[in-house]
Amino acid sequence: MALEDYRGDMETCTRCSLCKFVPLEQVRGAKYVNICPSVARYNFHAYSAGGRLAAGTALLDKRIGYSEKLAEVIYNCQLCGGCDVSCKYALDMEVLEPLYEMRASCVEAGAVPASVKKMIDQSRDNRQLSTRSGAEGGQWMDGLKVGDVNQAGIDVIYYPGCRTGCDPRLWGIARATVSLLQKAGIRFGVAEGAELCCGGQAYRMGCRGDFQKQAQESIAMLINSTAHTLVTSCAECYQAFKVLYTRCGLQLELEVLHSTEYFDRLLESGQLTPLNAINRRVTYHDPCHLGRLGEPYIPWKGTQRPGHMRLFDPPKEFRRGTHGVYQSPRNILNRIPGLTLVEMDRTKEYAWCCGAGGGVKETNPDFAQWTALERLSEAESTGADALVTACPGCERHFRDTLTGTGKSLQVFDVAELLEAAI
Ligand code: SF4
Ligand code: SF4
Repeated sequence: MALEDYRGDMETCTRCSLCKFVPLEQVRGAKYVNICPSVARYNFHAYSAGGRLAAGTALLDKRIGYSEKLAEVIYNCQLCGGCDVSCKYALDMEVLEPLYEMRASCVEAGAVPASVKKMIDQSRDNRQLSTRSGAEGGQWMDGLKVGDVNQAGIDVIYYPGCRTGCDPRLWGIARATVSLLQKAGIRFGVAEGAELCCGGQAYRMGCRGDFQKQAQESIAMLINSTAHTLVTSCAECYQAFKVLYTRCGLQLELEVLHSTEYFDRLLESGQLTPLNAINRRVTYHDPCHLGRLGEPYIPWKGTQRPGHMRLFDPPKEFRRGTHGVYQSPRNILNRIPGLTLVEMDRTKEYAWCCGAGGGVKETNPDFAQWTALERLSEAESTGADALVTACPGCERHFRDTLTGTGKSLQVFDVAELLEAAI
């Protein structure tokens, strides 16, 4: 797809500004009503989805050209998809898709901000996200008895993802996941080279060629395994395998599950049973890539019928974020003895982003931190003593942001708490 393919969507924008807020019927309190971190921070219409769509049509019509300022606006967005679900509460139009395409057209035109170029170059060198710690691939498994994906008779591939595999601060998530799979008696293997990026970040930064190359290498790494299921604890890998690969016509012939979905199944079937009490009051942060952005991709090919109304032939089903992974992590937390789960004002498809998405943590750390601080305050307002999430990127960003704030809130992954309870 190209930006031109979304002309009809962009021209449908009524400048109603609903993409800036949680839909009114879903608002739970006066304080936490924003859904777009970008416009909330920069307070100017151009930094909202509606503003970016207006810029997109102006680009297509050559009323404006690529400039440093335009690229700065396009990349100061977490691609969190909050705008997309809020807009679709009332309308049938794509909002996030053209935002992805605007980034791709910036890369094609050679018009990306210096901070973005640096990040892209770095991830090309590393074949990983740019925030690499320097740890060697596979080090996270030291001392664990884990085989690879090509051993005979395995059922499951565990894919920790490059962010987790190469950052010692996140190894606890991968090690807890391995421990739980072993306790449940699952025959699984870990992909050699699973610290290579799935390609999701390249896609989000607008580097389509890099995405295709990285995705094909990932598929080649997994293709000879006898496993029928891939389990990942990374929400971004999950979204790449499940949504982006399908969207780009790439086939990963495996059932893709996030670790929370898989553990929920294992708890349901009695293969795992939490017995140790964890006496905490926790709140759950829905990662964008597991929630609204993790909703399965729905292919559609057809035309829009002429006329003022948005009618499609054949009828088009829009992804509205309602089919993301929301219940599995909550089911797990609710099964842990002693644990009380309390909800924030903005949950599920209307959750506020952690701030790290879309490369913003690397390219504009102040904005990323500002966004996380709002979420941490929202978490504190529930009276919880810990924030639990299911995405290593969110976890690390929240922990980084908490450093030096004096806040007592702790941050965990669902797998870490479940492992402690078993
Ligand atoms: S993108 Fe959607 S919600 Fe935002 S201004 Fe346009 S029509 Fe309104
Ligand atoms: S993707 Fe997120 S940050 Fe970007 S415009 Fe939409 S709501 Fe705002």
